[in-house]
Amino acid sequence: MSDKKRVLITGGAGFLGSHLCDRFLAEGYQVVAMDNLITGDLANIEHLLENEDFEFVEHDVSTYVSLPGKLDYILHFASPASPIDYLKIPIQTLKVGSLGTHNLLGLAKTKNARILIASTSEVYGDPEVHPQVEEYFGNVNPVGPRGCYDEAKRFQEAITMAYHTHHGLETRIIRIFNTYGPRMRLDDGRVLPAFLSQALRGENLTVFGDGSQTRSFCYVDDLVEGIYRLLLSDYPLPVNIGNPTEITIKEFGEEIANLTGVEFKPSYHPLPQNDPMKRKPDITKAKEILGWEPKVDRAEGLRRTLEYFKESVLQ
Ligand code: NAD
Ligand code: UDP
Repeated sequence: MSDKKRVLITGGAGFLGSHLCDRFLAEGYQVVAMDNLITGDLANIEHLLENEDFEFVEHDVSTYVSLPGKLDYILHFASPASPIDYLKIPIQTLKVGSLGTHNLLGLAKTKNARILIASTSEVYGDPEVHPQVEEYFGNVNPVGPRGCYDEAKRFQEAITMAYHTHHGLETRIIRIFNTYGPRMRLDDGRVLPAFLSQALRGENLTVFGDGSQTRSFCYVDDLVEGIYRLLLSDYPLPVNIGNPTEITIKEFGEEIANLTGVEFKPSYHPLPQNDPMKRKPDITKAKEILGWEPKVDRAEGLRRTLEYFKESVLQ
């Protein structure tokens, strides 16, 4: 048997999961990616399929999960993440956050593995505290259209803490703020793939509302570094990981138009219901506990992402 540490990454064929697979293989781990491909794509991990330390298992984690062999760590990233995805499949979204998380906590307990779960800034809802600190309980509408995602993630955090306090399981909770980079799906409806692919096709940029709502975008490599550090830390309470540089959606559109060398031509559409008006992480905890802060600024991150999108959109 190999003495390498073995990690299970659920959602491993998705945007973030596939970058995590790359990172853990580069760090010398054995990696099992588990995914039912509902929003992911095998193309994201195709380059890993020949690697002897990598294994892909096609499975829906909302049904019973078992895995032969030892397991040191579990990273639970399976879940639709884009609003248009989870609005299309709200029940699967609720199930993977609740039943899926329960299954993986059970697996972690059986294997004596440490588990990190991917939570989200959406647990803060449309926040009344700005920037968002981990102690803020949030402002979520459970029965609004985003409730299926936000409440699944809030339940996920609650059951994870219960396994920690009741069973003594080693757990980590990351609250991820808007992250972007290569391997985002062009049609996933999130603002960056939407704006970049519209700009590259010479279409108007679809700005929802008047574009005054804000987001704070983190480049994927910075996020992956934060996840890696949190997993190896001894801190069981939620930690925000994101880039605190805030921008309005309209300014973001202008920035993307500039980057792609086109004139900024917005087409305005109604703001989706319960769309948060502002979002910016307070990353004091990540700095103090993990010694982490983002390194890639938006200009650089967007340049790197543009290269990927050019190949996908213009091919
Ligand atoms: P993604 O859609 O690219 O990846 C999610 C992956 O999970 C996909 O490959 C999908 O097929 C898989 N999946 C979904 N349901 C499953 C199930 N029942 N069983 C097995 N696999 C399943 O999304 P992403 O952006 O990579 O997000 C990954 C995780 O990070 C999600 O849990 C999401 O909530 C969280 N997150 C992401 C962001 C972000 O900005 N990208 C922000 C906050 C939280
Ligand atoms: N948005 C937009 N045009 C689009 C897609 C999104 O103006 O084509 C807005 C959306 O209303 C939100 C912000 O961009 O205010 C970020 O949306 P995204 O879906 O990327 O992430 P989330 O709302 O989950 O933060």
